[in-house]
Parts: sequence; structure tokens; C-alpha cells
Amino acid sequence: MHSSTSRAVAVLGATGSIGRATLDVLRLLAPEFQLYGLSGHARVGELLEAAQSAKAQVLVGTHEQALANLRMTPPGCHIAQGSKALVALATDPRVDIVVAAIVGSAGMLSTLAAAEAGKRIALANKESLVVAGRLLTRAAQASGAELIPVDSEHSAIFQAIQAGKPQQVSRIVLTASGGPFRTWTKQQLEHASLEDALSHPTWKMGPKITVDSATMMNKALEIIEARWLFDLPPEKIDVVVHPQSIVHSFVEFVDGSTIAQLSPPDMRLPIQYALTYPDRRACPCSRMDWKVNWELSFQPVDCDRFPAVQLGWMVAKSGGSAGAVLNAANEAAVGLFMQGKLRFVDIVPACRSILEEHHFEPDPDLDRLLVLDQWSRNQVERWAALSG
Ligand code: NAD
Ligand code: MG
Repeated sequence: MHSSTSRAVAVLGATGSIGRATLDVLRLLAPEFQLYGLSGHARVGELLEAAQSAKAQVLVGTHEQALANLRMTPPGCHIAQGSKALVALATDPRVDIVVAAIVGSAGMLSTLAAAEAGKRIALANKESLVVAGRLLTRAAQASGAELIPVDSEHSAIFQAIQAGKPQQVSRIVLTASGGPFRTWTKQQLEHASLEDALSHPTWKMGPKITVDSATMMNKALEIIEARWLFDLPPEKIDVVVHPQSIVHSFVEFVDGSTIAQLSPPDMRLPIQYALTYPDRRACPCSRMDWKVNWELSFQPVDCDRFPAVQLGWMVAKSGGSAGAVLNAANEAAVGLFMQGKLRFVDIVPACRSILEEHHFEPDPDLDRLLVLDQWSRNQVERWAALSG
């Protein structure tokens, strides 16, 4: 049993990069914050180990076969399987905070369920906002759920925006590292390999978001994410390239004052803030050392070499079904690129082509979003087959 003052946390996607960093943070926040349950997909061994060492009470395996070869169960831990069990964990009355750290639209239903159940959601799974921003923000409003960003840029904005009133924000500026191809020419990009795409200069993340950073589709998804989190029109969302990943984003107010949040790149900081907000706690993250020279540089984003970014503004503006179509097209295209079935430079054109082809719907419900997600994935398969 948890004491009444401790907050129970469910970590969805606990075996991933954000999930593992969250378990790290939770070890230091105990006993005030306690892991209640966790989920993982394919890597069952790691999941089991994490459940044991954190004394989780519930373990959910989402992959069909993942739990089949499970020989032992940690004492006192309830084990369940499948998407229903995942939703049950996300809505469990004993859970106060849900850390949404599954990658892709696979995380959408559990995030939505947590929003309907009125939880605090520490949101890393940006794809669920890209696909279902309207449904998710509506559900949170209706239930009183809190959507607290974990994405470093959005956490920075969430922190900086507290310096003024919402109507006094003139724009926000998302920083982007520029990824591994920041200095590559268009010609060089033609030959970008998976290995090149996976060598991110400043962040160590899961493979899908790492490829998204290389195409800069990640920034497009973040423009859409910001549109929903902060209820801002796309004209008030800007992007600047900042290779050092120290300034995590800016908020500019009507008087011309710009407030930023800075820290060495380490996701444990935004994860912890999403858990403890409005409190701040000591954190083992490294500090800025002002006894050495720092070069913090900023450059405009080059939409000619990185056309993905433009899609972010386009989709943030149109809303409706566009987010679901763009997100699924991108997930499918990145998947094909990782399998060697699509060239790096074809990821974004494939997404644009499917986005332009789709019949726009202004206010799709959840069932329509799921249909559009599947349609978009099928279209990418077709596009790749035709182009390859
Ligand atoms: P990851 O690939 O390292 O981990 C993904 C997690 O999701 C794993 O636990 C995996 O088991 C689980 N998962 C995968 N497919 C699943 C499925 N079909 N059903 C259920 N669970 C599934 O990814 P990550 O880098 O930790 O990213 C997680 C989310 O956080 C993404 O939405 C990403 O955009 C966002 N994010 C990550 C970072 C970062 O630094 N890694 C930063 C900002 C935002
Ligand atoms: Mg980010």
C-alpha cells in the first residue's frame, strides 16, 4: 500500500529511452513518488528486471507473444497482456500519474484513456497529440486531467510561459538541434544511410525519433504538439536551429521580452518536472559550467534541405484529419527506411504526397482517426513500391 501522501506512477513504455530515464528519476523521488505499474512491448527480459527492481505491482506486456516465454513472475506483481490491460493500467484508480512514453500512435489509446480518467499525464508520446490533439485536449478539459509535456522544447515553453499571462504571449520559438545532417548538402543527403541518420549529435533517443530528428520531421510533429498543448495558432510558433541543445526553447511576450529555459541536454530534467510540477526538486543532471567558454549559436531553419518542417505548419493550420495522416505516413515511411526499403530523401516526399492525396475531414472521431491511420500506412507501402 502507498501512503496517502505518495503519488503512484504508471510508466507506459518503460523499456524505452524515456521509460528507463523515468525509472531512474523515480528511484530518486521515492518514497514520495512510487512506481505502481509499467508496460513494455518486445523486450520482456528488461521489463521483468525493471518490475522487480522497482517492486512494481502491475506489469503489462503489449506484444502478443512477449509474455509467452515468461517463466517466473516477480512476487506480488500482477501480470497482464494486451491493449486492454494497458488501458486498465492507464485508468487504474490507484494511479495518480501516467507517464506516456510509448513511441508512435500505438500510445494513443492509452494516453486518451488516461486523459478521460482525469490523470496527470507526463506526455512524451507526442504522436498522440499529433493524431488526436482535439480529442485529447477535449478529454483532458472535461475530466480535469493535466497534460504536462516531457518533450524538452515543450517543457521549456511550459516553464517559460509562467513568466506572463497566456494572452501576453506573442510567439514561442522551438529550438532544433538540426540533427546529424545539419551541415549536409542536398547532394550528400541523397546518400544518407541508416547509420548516418542514427548518429544524433546531442541526444541519445529511441530509433524512430532519432530518424525524425534527421529529417527534421520531429520539429514538424513538435509544431503540431505545441499548437495543441499551448492552444496557439501556427503563426505564433517559430523554429530556430540551435546545434548545442542547451537552450530548450523560448517564449516571447508582447513587450518584446524573451524568456528561455537552459540546461545541458538530459531528459531526466523535463521528466522530473512533469512529475513534481509545480514543485522543483534536486536532480542529478549536470549543470552549466560557466567557467568554460560556451558558444551558443542560432540559425534559421533551411526548409529547402529540410522540407518536413513546412508540413508541421501546414498540418497545425488545417487540423482535422491531417495530423493522423501525416503521423501514420511518417511512421510507415521511417519503418520502411529502417528496413532498407525506402531512401532517406524519400521519407518526406512520401508523407507530403499522401497528405495531399487524402480527403480532408474537419472533425474526425476516434474511429475515423484509426481508419485514416491505417489508410495512410497502406498508401506509403504503395508509394514505396511504385518509387522503388
Ligand atoms: P523507444 O523506442 O526508446 O521506446 C519506446 C517504448 O514504447 C518501449 O518501451 C517499447 O517497448 C514501447 N513500444 C513500442 N512499440 C509499441 C507498441 N506497438 N505498443 C506498445 N508499446 C510499444 O522510444 P523513446 O525514444 O523512449 O520515445 C518514446 C516517446 O517519447 C516518443 O513518442 C518520442 O517521440 C518521445 N520523446 C522521446 C525523447 C527521447 O529523448 N528519447 C525526447 C522527446 C520525446
Ligand atoms: Mg523534442
